[in-house]
Amino acid sequence: MKKKITYIFPIYNESENIELLYGTMLRTTKPLLSKYALEYLFVNDGSKDDSLKKLVDIQKKDSSVRVINFSRNFGHQIAVTAGLDNATGDAVIIMDADMQDPPSVSLELIKKWEQGYEVAYAQRKTRKDTLFKKFTAALFYRTLQKLASIDIPRDTGDFRLIDRKVLLAINSMREHDRFLRGMVAWVGFKQVAVQFDRNDRNAGETNYPLSKMIKLAVDGILGFSTYPIRLISKVGYLISSLAFLGIIYAIGYKYINPSGTVPGWTFIVISILFIGGLQLVMLGILGGYIGRIYSEAQNRPLYLIDHIYETKNSK
Ligand code: UDP
Ligand code: MG
Repeated sequence: MKKKITYIFPIYNESENIELLYGTMLRTTKPLLSKYALEYLFVNDGSKDDSLKKLVDIQKKDSSVRVINFSRNFGHQIAVTAGLDNATGDAVIIMDADMQDPPSVSLELIKKWEQGYEVAYAQRKTRKDTLFKKFTAALFYRTLQKLASIDIPRDTGDFRLIDRKVLLAINSMREHDRFLRGMVAWVGFKQVAVQFDRNDRNAGETNYPLSKMIKLAVDGILGFSTYPIRLISKVGYLISSLAFLGIIYAIGYKYINPSGTVPGWTFIVISILFIGGLQLVMLGILGGYIGRIYSEAQNRPLYLIDHIYETKNSK
């Protein structure tokens, strides 16, 4: 039996790109056919144009094509998740449908897989995007690198190859706010980067407006870092220390220069500083518990086993 490779394409209003994408994929992957069976899995994420019709037309003529049609738009990360859940390949490759991820690069990813890597992610050497997108993306990846508890490769989108073993691990993580590239980094296994130049979008415009980008960035940071919640305690202790100094000052001033203070001033200043600091420290404690509730709710596996080396008893 040939091994199978599944290509996953999330589709949202890509009508103008679908035929070009499918045609290019067929041409590019032709050399693979002697060795592998291929599956093209399109996930139509509630497109408002005629993407679905185009996909179904292609599916009718090509049995290696499967089309999952969502009931509405659920977003890119969820569309890819549905692809991962339903892929039947021994390896899957996630690609954008707008030709920004060059199909030829997927062959290099497969080469890495053949060399024994279980994740091969395509890392952008250069990208053709607006200055604004480049700037916000750079800012995001650097922030994430600083804050995240695991090493999430920078300048890397979802364009990657994932071995079935890793796929099963990812599929076992059912968190709702999904940041897939973080999840892939989190699961570990043998991973390798492949450099590439990211193209312009072929037709249509980006389906990632600023609001969706911010949501993705927040998912990335909150999903893989407890820094923001720990920040509350840090600020709390800082403010408390400053309040302590303020309190000493207020009391000292009252004794050194009693006539210079309005009656009641010392008491009010002390109360405000004390309660302000106390509140933040208490919020930090709440934050600590909420952080734990959060990670329980994410319900990630505690560990993942790559392989158990043992001698099987012959019965
Ligand atoms: N996409 C999707 N659902 C969405 C938004 C985007 O399935 O709600 C798909 C889109 O069709 C494309 C991929 O996700 O194949 C990446 O989207 P896009 O090219 O708009 O993002 P960008 O490359 O600009 O970051
Ligand atoms: Mg794109």
